[in-house]
Amino acid sequence: MGRALIIGAGGVAGVVIHKCCQNSEVFEEICIASRTKSKCDAFRDKLQGKTKTVITTAQVNADNVDELIALIESYKPQVVINVALPYQDLTIMDACLATKTNYMDTANYEPEDTAKFEYSWQWAYRERFEKAGITALLGSGFDPGVTGVFCAYAQKHHFDEIHYIDILDCNGGDHGYPFATNFNPEINIREVSAKGSFIENGQWVETEPMEIKREYDFKGVGKKDMYLLHHEELESLAINIKGVKRIRFFMTFGQSYLTHLKCLENVGMTSIEPIEYEGKQIVPLQFLKAVLPDPASLGPRTVGKTNIGCIFQGVKDGKEKTYYLYNICDHQACYKEVGSQAISYTTGVPAMIGAMMLMTGTWNKPGVYNIEEFDPDPFMEALNKWGLPWEEDFNPVLVP
Ligand code: NDP
Repeated sequence: MGRALIIGAGGVAGVVIHKCCQNSEVFEEICIASRTKSKCDAFRDKLQGKTKTVITTAQVNADNVDELIALIESYKPQVVINVALPYQDLTIMDACLATKTNYMDTANYEPEDTAKFEYSWQWAYRERFEKAGITALLGSGFDPGVTGVFCAYAQKHHFDEIHYIDILDCNGGDHGYPFATNFNPEINIREVSAKGSFIENGQWVETEPMEIKREYDFKGVGKKDMYLLHHEELESLAINIKGVKRIRFFMTFGQSYLTHLKCLENVGMTSIEPIEYEGKQIVPLQFLKAVLPDPASLGPRTVGKTNIGCIFQGVKDGKEKTYYLYNICDHQACYKEVGSQAISYTTGVPAMIGAMMLMTGTWNKPGVYNIEEFDPDPFMEALNKWGLPWEEDFNPVLVP
């Protein structure tokens, strides 16, 4: 079918690469390009000979638009899969525009010096992508990603109107470290130390970080404490799911993680303000990232399951209805299959599927779109086929 350029060679990229290689009918050729080429070469060396996909590698600084344009022009991919960091979203989108190449990512743009995530920067490219006849698919991980597809599916097949959505992200995995993050520590800590927020009647309601706590009994995991967080998909879902009155996002955290985080915050280690150290400017959070375990190394140690999904309340045929759509994923099963833990797996599989939707022309709509704006059915089918089967509950326990 064609050729994809994968930018980034971290935890999530590792899963995308494995999954593209399992799907070589669609991904006949991939190029893995990142800042550190040796990491790209290591993936190529591991997989070459075990797949029909032809793998090449390249070095690229994705902060540099000219370098990206040169790489895209020489490789000529049908889609660029951005699994580097959110800081690179706009430079990669610029390069895709200049070369008329489809774009896909798993996290919305964040300026490096401000912990602020919103879609305005990427939505500003809508007209230019439409005019260029290319598609940008935003947020094709799990959350954002599958959660948006679940919302579109619920809207299409189960409700006339959805009034309430609760997104529940539970990680029941244990890696045995007192403190480690399951994906890029810098991005993860910026997300969880920010103020919480949810959308009610079209307005953002802000909370203090970790102010709202609930307990929930997750299938496959058991009872866990979860906390209301700000999360990027709330912004697009509030617009794209018609009639919705409230959307909240909850994520589970263990006590050890929270105690460590509080302590690191109290001593200033989570700050993104540069400080002077021995004549050099350093950002405390970036230094912290350097001393924490690499998320990609957690795979062999992590046991347990994740359960991520959405609970919907609304109306169908004049009657009140509730519906829960979720996926349960086992850390060790992921490690056996692709050498990664479930957080990278649940992000990397939907990233491969999103890219496949663009490569095959199944989703073909020039412009910049969030994932819930596409037909959910082929994606839902692909989730079952490619390792993230979903389950339904028509009588779920609701979150107070
Ligand atoms: P990692 O830190 O493991 O990997 C990031 C990769 O990007 C590294 O290989 C890094 O290179 C590379 N990179 C960083 N800066 C540049 C640059 N300027 N030029 C080229 N390459 C660069 O992160 P993860 O794999 O954990 O996360 C990847 C993305 O997935 C993030 O955007 C994250 O927010 C998102 N994510 C989305 C989720 C979802 O459900 N939607 C869930 C989890 C993550 P180097 O190796 O040299 O450091």
